[in-house]
Amino acid sequence: AATEEERDLTDGFHLVIDALKLNGIETIYGVPGIPITDLGRMCQEEGIRVVSFRHEQNAGNAAAIAGFLTKKPGICLTVSAPGFLNGLTALANATTNCFPMILISGSSEREIVDLQQGDYEEMDQLAIAKPLCKAAFRVLHAEDIGIGVARAIRAACSGRPGGVYLDLPAKLFGQVLDAEKGAQSLVKVIDPAPEQLPAPAAVKRAMDVLKGAKKPLIILGKGAAYAQADDDIRAFVEKSGIPFLQMSMAKGLLPDNHPQSAGAARSLALLESDVVVLVGARLNWLLSHGKGKQWGPAGSKKFIQIDIEPKEMDSNVEIAAPLVGDIGSCVKALLSGIDGKWEAPSAEWTGAISAKKDANIAKMASRLMKNSSPMDFHSALGALKTVIAERPDAILVNEGANTLDLARGVIDMYQPRKRLDVGTWGVMGIGMGFAIAAAVETGKPVLAVEGDSAFGFSGMEVETICRYNLPVCIVIFNNNGIYRGTDKDPTGRDPGTTVFVENARYDKMMEAFGGVGVNVTTPDELKRAVDEAMDSGKPTLINAVIDPAAGSESGNIGSLNPQSVVKKK
Ligand code: ADP
Ligand code: MG
Repeated sequence: AATEEERDLTDGFHLVIDALKLNGIETIYGVPGIPITDLGRMCQEEGIRVVSFRHEQNAGNAAAIAGFLTKKPGICLTVSAPGFLNGLTALANATTNCFPMILISGSSEREIVDLQQGDYEEMDQLAIAKPLCKAAFRVLHAEDIGIGVARAIRAACSGRPGGVYLDLPAKLFGQVLDAEKGAQSLVKVIDPAPEQLPAPAAVKRAMDVLKGAKKPLIILGKGAAYAQADDDIRAFVEKSGIPFLQMSMAKGLLPDNHPQSAGAARSLALLESDVVVLVGARLNWLLSHGKGKQWGPAGSKKFIQIDIEPKEMDSNVEIAAPLVGDIGSCVKALLSGIDGKWEAPSAEWTGAISAKKDANIAKMASRLMKNSSPMDFHSALGALKTVIAERPDAILVNEGANTLDLARGVIDMYQPRKRLDVGTWGVMGIGMGFAIAAAVETGKPVLAVEGDSAFGFSGMEVETICRYNLPVCIVIFNNNGIYRGTDKDPTGRDPGTTVFVENARYDKMMEAFGGVGVNVTTPDELKRAVDEAMDSGKPTLINAVIDPAAGSESGNIGSLNPQSVVKKK
């Protein structure tokens, strides 16, 4: 028998790495520090790509969007307590958006944490993570690492995807195990997101409702984009002839310039439709909860909803035909009902949408073509709309207030999963994390269109972009502030609460790290600078000077800003 020294040993570090690799994890996003510094080094040594960020929230956002793009859980690795909390915002955001992600955090010693004896970065992380994610696990023994990682992966991917927290106390990493026993303890997750077929009766019910429609409408959400059932979704839309709307991150599932797109006639389509097929889109605030002014009189609509999460049904209004299952299977089932007996929607309905759409597009066109200086949002976006039309496989990341609201409508998308934005929470700060992961996961050029305020939440990651030499072109719509750059402190003491340093030169930030910085003041200059960046693949930041008076305040259309009665006196 071999002596202790001769026996082949493994430890917690290597078991974590082996478990991730066994399950096809190729990239980790994180910030190094105690107690996971060596884990990162060893990951790199063992061939896992490690992308080290400057702040955990950005690493977490990167992991989340990697999950959306690949259907595999994106991994974020952080230190204990503060690093964990920074990553937790991204984990909660991933869960809200239904993106599969695993936040792995090192943590302090259980014995000391539980007795609250004041350990280094002491915090009961598992308890804190639990209400903010889909599932949370802690591994105390090296022989349980395999099952812990497997449970985290399955929890993140199966059913409605979401964020999972995996707590790995510092002591675990050094625990030693016989190598053979260690290898046997690893678990490969078989079929992490199994197909879930809709019940035949539910399919029949849905087809009956759909066949009774006079003015049907399909709404595609980011769940449909996530599902990667692109061909079946397109076939269902085209064979049925039903007009469609695409939610922001679903844009490009079918090209926005598709003849059946009702995008530019959104209000009319929502108001007048009588049967609405929701495909991976929730009736949350982004769809005015499926009721009210936008949707017309109560009871004037029937909803067919496809979702993998049964609890989503009837969340806001009655769902006449719930279709619970994975989007691929559900859409296939509906597609087979679009047979010889199917009657396409009337020309009256599709014609009304087309007429409205053509009128709106024509109205917008002149605003997009102005070659003005200073630029306003529309003239700057006109240039970027052309960039994406010419480079449909580029990935567009978008956040801001006006920069988001207007870009969503103006910039047409042509391919699935090319538009990444603020999602369900409308959160600012996803920009650089999303841009980095998009470049790393897809190898495609990335165009990040950022409000100057939005950029500030993750701006330090321009160093990360330069360090990894990623093909990311950031365009900052710089209007000197949030919404506008014109607010004043009524007392005259300080700058207004929503303004920044005037005429700031964000392009200089990029130059500090060896990237390309460009300052532009006209749409032509903007277009030229973006083209050059996208052709060269060099990390680039373009400071696009926008008229500080051009923006409008967001939150007012949906009455999201509370009003002070006293102020109005
Ligand atoms: P959007 O904001 O674009 O409207 P939402 O995030 O509101 O999209 O809705 C996405 C929906 O898609 C969620 O309710 C989620 O449960 C569902 N979903 C995600 N993946 C799948 C899938 N593979 N099959 C079915 N439904 C899915
Ligand atoms: Mg601004």
